[in-house]
Amino acid sequence: MTPLVPPRIIEKKRQGEVLSREELEAFFLGFLEGSVPDYQMAAFLMAVYFRGMADIEVEALLGVMLASGTVLDLSDVSGPKVDKHSTGGVGDKTSLVVAPLAAELGLKVPMMSGRGLGHTTGTVDKLEAIPGFRTRLDVAEFRAVLREVGLVMVGQTEEIAPLDRRLYALRDATATVPSIPLIATSILSKKLAEDLDGLILDVKVGEGAFLTGVEDARKLALTMTAMARSRGVRAAALLTAMDVPLGLAIGNGLETAEAFRCLAGLGPPDLESLSLALVGEMLFLGGMEPSPASGVDKAREALRSGRALERMARLVARQGGDPRVVEEPDRMPPAPVRLVVEAQAEGVVTKVHPRLLGEGVIELGGGRRRMEDTIDPRVGFVLAVRPGDRVEVGQPLGVVHAADEGAASRARRRLLDAVEVGKGGGGHGLPLVLERIPPG
Ligand code: URA
Repeated sequence: MTPLVPPRIIEKKRQGEVLSREELEAFFLGFLEGSVPDYQMAAFLMAVYFRGMADIEVEALLGVMLASGTVLDLSDVSGPKVDKHSTGGVGDKTSLVVAPLAAELGLKVPMMSGRGLGHTTGTVDKLEAIPGFRTRLDVAEFRAVLREVGLVMVGQTEEIAPLDRRLYALRDATATVPSIPLIATSILSKKLAEDLDGLILDVKVGEGAFLTGVEDARKLALTMTAMARSRGVRAAALLTAMDVPLGLAIGNGLETAEAFRCLAGLGPPDLESLSLALVGEMLFLGGMEPSPASGVDKAREALRSGRALERMARLVARQGGDPRVVEEPDRMPPAPVRLVVEAQAEGVVTKVHPRLLGEGVIELGGGRRRMEDTIDPRVGFVLAVRPGDRVEVGQPLGVVHAADEGAASRARRRLLDAVEVGKGGGGHGLPLVLERIPPG
């Protein structure tokens, strides 16, 4: 075997050449073992960002990422195992609605999620906003909770795809997140380690997503569904709108509370519709329903019955959290300062910029600048308006939840910049579901 020369590998990628499986394996394993330092990997990631990867390179990278950790065997857990994953957006708390609903309808949901990345919040951070909730379970407990409750929601364990955990942090710090091969392999290295029968991918499109354009989002969706299928998982994708925040709450604990209200049938409408659409797809992928549409009907019934809310409370209790917050979201720990932000002019809300609000959550201390940062789960924004709404001077546009007065007043400026009020033409954003990539 030829010895590994990292600068040569970086140079080849920089020139747009296709690397062999052996070269990629040696380079990435060298990174895991410490012979390839962070600065060489960072340069390589930037080369991938600009040059992309050929299909065989993406396959090889996924193989190395999966092999870096444990791939679960859940064959002793009865029932179809189906999960959902989003590519990340602002205000996207659908996992907290989707997982208990799908479990209530007979699927097993072994959900392993990530922390917030860049301007987006992550499911693990939202779960940890619940007092006492444990997102770190060992494999034995993971299995036990899945069997008992029908779902389990955890962060990436030490054993699952450790290579992804290290790359994820480095990508976040080097502005190399928005890359189709890097996102696809990152997501699938976690999801394919869950021993799934089916997977629905929610691929976000628009200003608040990592890949803003529909062409790129479609390519990402096709790459991921094809790779999952080639490894025996029935996978489909929905391309969904991220040109406005999803729902009204942005910030970890605030989003968790909104998800629980949604499980109680209290909306907001966009969050409820998207959650139902995703559960419909999951029931179809798991062979429990003849079509996604009939799955949506079942999901709607389960939501109305309140049973999914009860199941979420069982999960929270089983993973050490205070289950009362599920039925009474106002019990979530509040931020010390709440500041109502009022419209400065009358008119129509023409745009609500998701990225500005996502970055605002980081500034408030509710997101990370570096992977090792701790976050304040209480802070964020709750919007009072959507594009298309008419507003008068002095009418609330939203509420800032902050740790202190100074942070609140800086965030007030953000909210005013994020919510554009003009003469008209608002409310014509992207449809909630732009496109569906069927399981094939
Ligand atoms: N979610 C992931 O798990 N990885 C990415 O790269 C982006 C979103």
